[in-house]
Amino acid sequence: MKTLQTDVLICGGGCAGIAAALSSARNGARTLLVERAGFSGGIITTVGLPYFDGLIDKPSGRFVVKGIALELLQKLGIAKPGAKSIDDLPPELVTKYWGSMWIPNVEHFKVLTDDLILQHKDKLSVLYHSVACDVEVKEGRVAAVIIANKDGLTRVEAKQVIDCTGDGDIAHWAGCPTISSKPLMPLTLHFRIGNVVPVKETKEMAKKVLIEAHQEGRLVNFYGPGLIFAFAKDECYVHATRVPADATNAADFTRAEIQGRKDAWAIFNEWKAKVPGFENSYYITSGPYIGVRDTRRIVGLNVLTLEDLQKTTRHDDAVATGC
Ligand SMILES: Cc1cc2nc3c(=O)[nH]c(=O)nc-3n(C[C@H](O)[C@H](O)[C@H](O)COP(=O)(O)OP(=O)(O)OC[C@H]3O[C@@H](n4cnc5c(N)ncnc54)[C@H](O)[C@@H]3O)c2cc1C
Repeated sequence: MKTLQTDVLICGGGCAGIAAALSSARNGARTLLVERAGFSGGIITTVGLPYFDGLIDKPSGRFVVKGIALELLQKLGIAKPGAKSIDDLPPELVTKYWGSMWIPNVEHFKVLTDDLILQHKDKLSVLYHSVACDVEVKEGRVAAVIIANKDGLTRVEAKQVIDCTGDGDIAHWAGCPTISSKPLMPLTLHFRIGNVVPVKETKEMAKKVLIEAHQEGRLVNFYGPGLIFAFAKDECYVHATRVPADATNAADFTRAEIQGRKDAWAIFNEWKAKVPGFENSYYITSGPYIGVRDTRRIVGLNVLTLEDLQKTTRHDDAVATGC
């Protein structure tokens, strides 16, 4: 098997992986990022759920999480340099109730993260279409990660491995304890519908129709629905499917993708036939992957507790801030 060597290996190129990769390279470490999709961005791009959450203190609207998150918002043109609060952002790209900032173009986010990676190419390399699939543990640490891609299997030896898979894949395979919620939160396939002309009754009717479809057995589960027109006046971004599954089980994950697609189409067909505003609509696309909320959580040397949140505990060795 071929072997690559690096100082830092980051598995998973979601928002956590991008931030880790840029920080690592900017601090001078030779860094390799591996991502199973053909682009980075994680939930924003692989799921197509285009907003940032949890960056602000909700009562005041003040940014608490800054760093690379704010840098990305600035480079997307959403936040101006020096933005201090959610009130400094364009109101049409903000949902104050959730404290969310919408990223109006997912494709732009892909290009932005590509550009940032390339800007650091003296230190940072990326392998897309590459899945971390096994680990070698020596003396209690991850000595190498096996990645699978079109080259076949490659061993990557790293001084430091950072697990940003969202599922704790590396930690779990290395024998680190993890916990999971029971039941796990359900999965959601996001999709978009074009040529919608929303009228007063559209949202209310969209919900009524889903309740009927559920009661009459045409739709097993649904949420909301969330109908969001953040990208264009006639483009509806839909948050409505709900698929219970364990995304760390390959067969169950596959079943969930198939069910999510089926449900998304069932919802679209119901609305097109029955909801004013959807008469001439068309199904644009669903996210490349169904969105996974909840799988394993690493039981690390330190575990965040409710008390930490309530007391806003600070740690001297913190690498990130949350709110
Ligand atoms: C439908 C939905 C709604 C949500 N709503 C909210 C909300 O309202 N508020 C909130 O704060 N959070 C919400 N979340 C959670 C939030 O999206 C995640 O906590 C966040 O995206 C985690 O970021 P991450 O970078 O750790 O992981 P991810 O964004 O999941 O990125 C992980 C990346 O790793 C890659 N990857 C996975 N396994 C491997 C592997 N073995 N090898 C290589 N690459 C791999 C994936 O392709 C992906 O790009 C929601 C999630 C979903 C799915």
